[in-house]
Amino acid sequence: MRLGIISALAEEQMGLIDAMQHVEKQVHGMREYTAGKLWDIDAVCVLSRIGKVAAAMTASILVEKFRVTHIVFTGVAGSGDVGVRVGDIVVAESLVQHDMDASPLFPRFEIPLTGQSHIASDRDLTRRLALAAREFLQEEPDTPQLHRGLIASGDQFIKHRAQLGALKDALPDLLAVEMEGAAVAQVCFELGIPFGVIRTISDNANEDAPVDFMEFVHKVASRYAFGVLQNFCRT
Ligand code: SAH
Repeated sequence: MRLGIISALAEEQMGLIDAMQHVEKQVHGMREYTAGKLWDIDAVCVLSRIGKVAAAMTASILVEKFRVTHIVFTGVAGSGDVGVRVGDIVVAESLVQHDMDASPLFPRFEIPLTGQSHIASDRDLTRRLALAAREFLQEEPDTPQLHRGLIASGDQFIKHRAQLGALKDALPDLLAVEMEGAAVAQVCFELGIPFGVIRTISDNANEDAPVDFMEFVHKVASRYAFGVLQNFCRT
């Protein structure tokens, strides 16, 4: 396995690059790719920046130029369900682009000419991510929970109750909202690369989200990413 690890923001990946050995850095297309040994795994870490196009480009380059065989996206997300709380972890079983709507030519959410709306993550990677997350959360105060299910991505920071409500009406199983995962899913689906997405909940995707998000990202996000990936790479 050669694992590509993508995050949108520096805080979501801090510490991982410091933990790498035999590091080689390369800048390509305005991003810095760091290849090396991460615990037991041959890995390439990169920050995609925010949004679906940025994430899709990064995933494509990881595969085509850096020859990764698997991809994991680790980052934060807004909650998409009342049962999913700040500090919980959501591991995606499938991902949908919530702002994809080419109806009436194609059903809402379907990616035109692929026949896909919800793209399933790789079962084995997802199982391993869930195990790593569960092990990490056991040591955390306030018993945060692990959830597995649907994550929706779009080029919007969801910060109004009504926005989330409308999404939830269309996607009742929704657990989390973010801005990159489903784009990585599409690229990996089309290139035949197994992938997984893991998100720590930073906010409730409502009017408090901008403040909650910033606080969480600064204080908690990197510790979670480091802890979970360490467990993942050692199993
Ligand atoms: N204002 C922020 C922008 C953050 S975008 C800034 O200046 O940095 C939010 C990032 O975290 C995205 O990468 C997205 O994947 C994730 N995210 C967290 N909460 C989100 C929410 N409520 N809606 C959409 N994406 C969210």
